[in-house]
Amino acid sequence: MSKRGVVLLGATGSIGENSLRVIRANSDRLQLVGIAGGSRAEPLAAIAEEFGLRNVALFDDEACAQARQSGLFGEEVNLSSGIEGLNRLATLPDADVVVVAVVGTMGLHPTLAAIEAGKEIALASKEVLVLAGKFVMAAAKAGGVRVLPVDSEHNAVFQCLNGAPDHEVERIILTASGGPFRNLSVAEMAAITPREALKHPNWSMGAKITVDSSTMANKGLELIEARWLFGMEPEQIKVVVHPQSIVHSMVEYVDGSILAQLSPPSMTFAIQHVLLYPERKPGVEQTLTFEDTMNLEFHPPDLEKFPCLRLAREAMEAAGAAPAIFNAANEVAVEAFLDKQISYPGIGELIDHTLQKVDNFEPANLQEVLDIDQSARRMSRDLIETHEF
Ligand code: NAD
Ligand code: MG
Repeated sequence: MSKRGVVLLGATGSIGENSLRVIRANSDRLQLVGIAGGSRAEPLAAIAEEFGLRNVALFDDEACAQARQSGLFGEEVNLSSGIEGLNRLATLPDADVVVVAVVGTMGLHPTLAAIEAGKEIALASKEVLVLAGKFVMAAAKAGGVRVLPVDSEHNAVFQCLNGAPDHEVERIILTASGGPFRNLSVAEMAAITPREALKHPNWSMGAKITVDSSTMANKGLELIEARWLFGMEPEQIKVVVHPQSIVHSMVEYVDGSILAQLSPPSMTFAIQHVLLYPERKPGVEQTLTFEDTMNLEFHPPDLEKFPCLRLAREAMEAAGAAPAIFNAANEVAVEAFLDKQISYPGIGELIDHTLQKVDNFEPANLQEVLDIDQSARRMSRDLIETHEF
């Protein structure tokens, strides 16, 4: 069996590291052929050396120029920067599958470039579909390219669906850990600091998604992601809080049976499933053993305490550009919160205000989506300057 060539965008991040573990353990099936990262050159150089890579992209131009000057990468390495650098990696001739695991919406252009080049997509960056799901999925369909979900909930749904026809599926049920602040009162939430929001009880992840999990904006983004990945109507997607993060999501069939996917809260299970799909091989980590008592709880989400989830659902229902506006405002809000410019409840308030201020319409093409993304970001930044959040 020939090996699948893998390109890893976001190689130094949390998904990136877990992907490398899966690739190392399955070197008979998978061959890493290229990596990209944001601005940290040293860890990229270490990965390039370990895997003998010839193609690396470093998004940050300055960091890239410095790495070139210092000879950090061997002469055999073709190093590129900027969005062109990411696109070059996403379309490498040796690549069969491109793992998109960069933060936020940076992954959009390389995802589209990879689809155009006929590469399979292993999608971790949910923001890509929230921003431009309609156009990304249409491009994938037109090109006959599969978009396989790495996000654990969507990977669980994909596994539980197992190719079932649409008319047999009643709904999908996304589980949410509820984050570290599930049991705080609304008043207590006002004082949450960045340091507190950066600690997740179950998952070890990058900064942005960790804050998103604590506000449940992450589940909101995942609602919209699910809509595009599985072609669901908004009312067919339900969220349930499951603090143990063992059941990663479920599918309810029309006959009332509900199927769930379970594993420990580690991304290697979903990543391996996608990279080897449809083949199954022993995993890189111990799975559940059921040797000890394990309680699994399920609660309805509290939309008053977690307005970001409510706003995301409203944006999904409003459709058009509303999900893109939600996503842009959330990215600006999380950055501003981590920068101590706005309070924790200010994240939801800023998203709410931005959604009210930016006119919603149905974008006719990708450029219109990118324009609205930019104007929503500008609006959010202006609101931070002129309001108290
Ligand atoms: P992270 O912050 O740990 O890592 C992000 C990676 O992206 C790093 O390698 C960084 O160098 C790179 N990067 C940042 N800006 C870049 C740019 N402009 N160009 C190229 N690379 C850039 O983030 P993460 O937790 O690994 O999450 C990555 C994506 O996966 C996010 O969209 C997140 O929502 C999604 N996701 C993560 C998890 C998880 O468990 N961590 C689970 C589901 C989905
Ligand atoms: Mg998830």
